[in-house]
Amino acid sequence: MTTEPFQVFAHAHEQVVFCHDPASGLRAIIALHSTVLGPGLGGTRFHPYASETEALADVLALSRGMTYKNALAGLDLGGGKAVIIGDPHADKSEALLRAYGRFVESLNGRYFTACDVGTYSADMDVVARETGYVTGRTVEHGGAGDSSVLTAFGVYQGMRASAQHVWGDPSLAGRAVGVSGVGKVGRHLVDHLVEEDARVVVTDIDPETVDALTQAHPDVRVAASTDALVATDLDVFAPCALGRALTDDVVTSLSAKIVCGGANNQLAHDGTAALLSARGIVYAPDYCVNAGGVIQVADELDPLGFSFERARARATGIFETTLAVLERAATDGVTTAQAADTEAERRMHDIGRLRTLYLGD
Ligand code: NAD
Repeated sequence: MTTEPFQVFAHAHEQVVFCHDPASGLRAIIALHSTVLGPGLGGTRFHPYASETEALADVLALSRGMTYKNALAGLDLGGGKAVIIGDPHADKSEALLRAYGRFVESLNGRYFTACDVGTYSADMDVVARETGYVTGRTVEHGGAGDSSVLTAFGVYQGMRASAQHVWGDPSLAGRAVGVSGVGKVGRHLVDHLVEEDARVVVTDIDPETVDALTQAHPDVRVAASTDALVATDLDVFAPCALGRALTDDVVTSLSAKIVCGGANNQLAHDGTAALLSARGIVYAPDYCVNAGGVIQVADELDPLGFSFERARARATGIFETTLAVLERAATDGVTTAQAADTEAERRMHDIGRLRTLYLGD
């Protein structure tokens, strides 16, 4: 057992809450990284972690990521995330989800939850029976529904901005785009790419997922694995499966000029951004381009209620945000990952400070 996760983030997080309800089997951790810009918003991951230490490391990293994602997306929201320890297929029950909802409620609005890996909009409807601090509910329950729709749309905007930066033209028509992982986000991304006449190559470890995609899009080519996809002649590589896709091997063998995908935490280690940059590959930072989903669910918090059109208009702004990050990196001679962090921190500083202005009684 390592204590490294405690050391790495010891001074960064505002609040970490361990939630236990033995009767329902709930074991969860809610982490609030920062509420400088507003209440923390981030999803609930339901995953069979090998240990509480592993779950804690994940929730600390994920909640920090949400702080930066929400800040860069221009939201008045801080960063939070939750993990439920268990097998979502075997352990999920009404009692467990409602017990979890009561812990969310106990934070009194400091944390708003949403879906993540292993949780779905229907689960958020159940959580919402115990707390108002929940987003990502089903459309029938007044929610924003499946957030992967605008996540993919935002990635597509980020990809067009990257094309503008690299080739001076945002069009992806005729470009070879490799998509690794065609689940909820990857599939919607392929819809946009096909519509723009990009030459799409996909891969996924689940054959049924690939079959469903090729039935919808017969012209899409299929690579046998992510390694095979990376070895293909590509203009753009879009990691849309799990994290840490950009290993040193992938980066060194990649022919693509642009990396832009929906997966969280794509960089395998701290040096990966520099390696990409040294190879002349433009990396559109993951949390910059995949913010469409959080923009979608955050819209539920609008006093007027959820509007898909308003959320979509806001997600369109990912084009400009991405372009600004890429241009700043080029101007300042830093990696695109550093440029995105700096811009997010600048907004936290400039906008977070406003709350110190006295408003009167
Ligand atoms: P998903 O589970 O629906 O899809 C992931 C797909 O990747 C699945 O089809 C799976 O079979 C495939 N896959 C897994 N390992 C693979 C591998 N080694 N090679 C190729 N394919 C592999 O999940 P999703 O909602 O589409 O999310 C995808 C990524 O995007 C995740 O990293 C997630 O954290 C991130 N993300 C999702 C959202 C959202 O709104 N859903 C928002 C932001 C970020």
